[in-house]
Amino acid sequence: MHRQQHLKNHSREALRERFRADGLPAYRADQVLRWLYVQAVEDWSAMSDLPLALREQLAADWQTRALDCVHVARSQDGTCKATLRAHDGAVVEAVLIPEERRQTLCISSQVGCPLACSFCATGALGFARNLTTAEIVDQVCRMQELLDPDERITNVVFMGMGEPLLNLPAVAEAIRILTDPKLFALAPRRITVSTAGVVSRIEALLDIAPVHLAVSLHAPTDAVRDVLVPLNRRFPLADLIATLRELDGVSPRRPVFFEYTLIDGVNDSERDAERLVALLRGLPCKLNVIPMNPHPDAPHGPPPSAVVDRFTARVHAGGLRVTLRRNRGTDIDAACGQLAAREAAAAVDRAVSPG
Ligand code: SF4
Repeated sequence: MHRQQHLKNHSREALRERFRADGLPAYRADQVLRWLYVQAVEDWSAMSDLPLALREQLAADWQTRALDCVHVARSQDGTCKATLRAHDGAVVEAVLIPEERRQTLCISSQVGCPLACSFCATGALGFARNLTTAEIVDQVCRMQELLDPDERITNVVFMGMGEPLLNLPAVAEAIRILTDPKLFALAPRRITVSTAGVVSRIEALLDIAPVHLAVSLHAPTDAVRDVLVPLNRRFPLADLIATLRELDGVSPRRPVFFEYTLIDGVNDSERDAERLVALLRGLPCKLNVIPMNPHPDAPHGPPPSAVVDRFTARVHAGGLRVTLRRNRGTDIDAACGQLAAREAAAAVDRAVSPG
């Protein structure tokens, strides 16, 4: 059976190579990718600067679209969550967060997630498969279609479903496409990749491009973090923080972002705040404190607001740059740790069930 390849799996350089190998001039790759990403055209018949015979030849060999949008939910606060389906039926979610001067898109890197963080709905799904580069990039294409013609996605964060560093080759090629000045043209500093702490792959990520690094921290001790983020048993806090301290390029202008989900009675005491200050002292960083977003599979919930305020004030007084993150999109289950479309759960079930 003839299998089509996917154009969006390739950076411009890689596609030029592929076209050359097929006996086509490399500039044809530039033309095709310009249609896909600059003109937002995926229909071969509309690619009018390509000869008709070439369009027919390419259409037989190459796919242009990896995801279809099957559902869109809009929050009262403007946040917009889309459920996107791949050709094999796998489903992921992407969330668009409009702010005054930017449009931030949160995208997924895997179908489900193998890391099973205890407060996260995606982790409760289990893991089905990695997304391809085309499926990562197509989240941006599909979500751009939801904006007005004069609006552009300005920031991309890999904080949706999955652990990006466990799918690094596909994520790396997607970053090359998103930052290509002739394609999406996003500055690397407008891309943030979030990891639960896959220490062995952090340097490799930052070698791709000077993107921002975010680390899901969530606890100041191994005892608590082992439970909240089971990956900590493999990469304990001391290794994680030591690696971050040695990274080239981390500076007050390019700090590490730490995410700290505040969970009632688990990691929200004044002692936890003091330990956190001690753990991060001297490391250029910003701390985002996020009161836990409840979901049905989680045994805990957010602390009372007085505890949230006390914790935040304590780490601020200890010298950390800290932001208390407003929850966005909670009414449509689009907030951090809530991404777990019913259809995604069904897809994971299909993938892990024998027969
Ligand atoms: S928090 Fe991130 S790494 Fe942990 S289970 Fe959820 S998606 Fe995976």
